[in-house]
Amino acid sequence: MTEPILDCLIVGGGPAGLTAAIYLARFHLDIMVVDAGKSRAAWIPCTRNVSGFPDGIEGTELLQRMRDQAQKYGAKIVTEQVTKLDRDEKSGTLTATWGSGEASARAVLLATGVSNRRPPMDEALHDQALSRGLVRYCPICDGYEVTDKRVGVIGSDSHGVAEAVFIRSFTADVTLIAPDRALSLGPVDQQKLKDAGIECVDGPAQAVAISDECIVVDTVEGHYAFDSIYPALGSDTHTQLAEMVGAALSNDSCIKVDSHQRTSVPGVYAAGDVVIGLDQISHAMGEGGVAATTIRNDLCAKQPLLREPALEGAETGS
Ligand SMILES: Cc1cc2nc3c(=O)[nH]c(=O)nc-3n(C[C@H](O)[C@H](O)[C@H](O)COP(=O)(O)OP(=O)(O)OC[C@H]3O[C@@H](n4cnc5c(N)ncnc54)[C@H](O)[C@@H]3O)c2cc1C
Repeated sequence: MTEPILDCLIVGGGPAGLTAAIYLARFHLDIMVVDAGKSRAAWIPCTRNVSGFPDGIEGTELLQRMRDQAQKYGAKIVTEQVTKLDRDEKSGTLTATWGSGEASARAVLLATGVSNRRPPMDEALHDQALSRGLVRYCPICDGYEVTDKRVGVIGSDSHGVAEAVFIRSFTADVTLIAPDRALSLGPVDQQKLKDAGIECVDGPAQAVAISDECIVVDTVEGHYAFDSIYPALGSDTHTQLAEMVGAALSNDSCIKVDSHQRTSVPGVYAAGDVVIGLDQISHAMGEGGVAATTIRNDLCAKQPLLREPALEGAETGS
């Protein structure tokens, strides 16, 4: 038996995809979320800059609440990695394929996020340090938590310099460490570091241990202990599915969208970190809401969404 065509398939179940799922399900649309389960939000031991949670909330707890909310209104959520996305030129129908199945939809939202590049360190040590706030990835999110602490920034280019200077507004004790070789910076970057009083250390460097609530980094210049390190090594954007259907990418390798989250391919939308913008939960949620409303309105423009009259005695939503 062929499955009915969904109104919308959402690839990615992070804050962007799940917010869109909540909106779309509440628009009475037939939707499905396919999520590989690697949301960056799941890495957050406790986020303290998401509005409405004055004492913070664990990333996994926030995601679970969002999944529960989407499912409450009828969204189906499947844990799988979508490996292929096709678009039928004639009908515009999109078909996504994953290990154990596939689904076709009139619209697809790509909310596939990015992956941070990790610093040179053992994986188990990385995960333990991350859970204890000894490794951090997002000074916009949690710079407040390193106020007046000793911070190492692992990075070697202008991106590393910018991150170190940003963190300097939270603490006077910032060290920039090159991950793989001696630091080689242009005069402008060198001056920025000098003006901000940021110490520089040559690599290769490796975070090697947790000791006395500190993370120890081995460098060619010796051992350094920090309250937290921030890798500033960039990230990889998950644009493979967008590329499969020919969606345009920006110069920063993100999916290009218009102000309503439409990509260059009809029926394909994108939201969250995979789109250029502030890589933050609030932003991902906002884009998820915009995308969902655009999808609803675009579907409605093609085929009016007119609800059948309620059956006598049937329960309505409350
Ligand atoms: C350590 C850390 C701390 C952070 N702290 C904060 C904070 O305090 N406050 C804040 O606002 N932000 C914080 N962020 C950033 C925040 O986590 C992200 O901005 C947010 O998760 C982006 O949401 P998203 O939905 O775009 O992507 P994600 O949450 O990354 O979700 C993308 C999802 O898509 C799935 N996916 C990708 N490709 C496929 C595929 N082919 N098939 C199926 N599924 C796929 C992934 O597995 C993943 O589950 C932090 C990030 C990190 C790493």
